[in-house]
Amino acid sequence: MQLLTELYKITSKSGREDKIKSFLLDCLKDIQIQIETDAIGNLFITKGQADIYPCIAAHLDEIHTPCKREIVIDNDTIYAVDEMWNRVGCGADDKNGLWIVINLLRSEPILKVALFVQEEKLGIIAGCRGANSCDLSFFNNVKYILECDRKGAHDVVAIGKGDIPLCDDKFIPQTILDKFDYQLVSGGKTDVVALKMRGLKIPVCNISCGYYNAHKNNEYTQFSELQNCLSFVKEILSEETNEKECK
Ligand SMILES: [Zn+2]
Repeated sequence: MQLLTELYKITSKSGREDKIKSFLLDCLKDIQIQIETDAIGNLFITKGQADIYPCIAAHLDEIHTPCKREIVIDNDTIYAVDEMWNRVGCGADDKNGLWIVINLLRSEPILKVALFVQEEKLGIIAGCRGANSCDLSFFNNVKYILECDRKGAHDVVAIGKGDIPLCDDKFIPQTILDKFDYQLVSGGKTDVVALKMRGLKIPVCNISCGYYNAHKNNEYTQFSELQNCLSFVKEILSEETNEKECK
């Protein structure tokens, strides 16, 4: 839980993602990875050598106005307060996705990771600015993208806002969905939806990662649900490896 509380302490309002990037790079400094960036500031990470990679996505920014945050752990629930002990958003949307990414880069031998800046709307400026401006060639040798940026604990968003098809209903085997108590749903917009709208052909989805009340002062996370998300994603990645080994 310590990694998550450290992530929550770092504010990363859209366009001001430098501190969270530095923290991430420090976390990953002992892992053999290649890191690329682009003009807007997205991070693209490659671990291991393979012809084709699974890819995990998350966004680096959050909606909340920066303030000094104290992190409160109440059994399985984690949230943030300010210096006056008033509830403030903890940035779980999408620090939970970053927590998943750090854990997977530590454990998985073959992985690509796309970390987008400026996913959140900024006043009247539309969101997904990082995903809308990135070079799609990073995904040329990617088989699918799993983004961990969905509220709750049980959703795999297979159809994005605006009826954008993200993946078909057999993309994740039903046995794995059942085992981790996930189901396919229609949902909102995030980076992978923006990539599909730009014409990306590979399957993508957006997975619940245990946060609630995103964008509000009473945002919180159920830690066991975030852990279940990590186990679910690991199982999808290992299913992929099994498939390759059988061929
Ligand atoms: Zn988000």
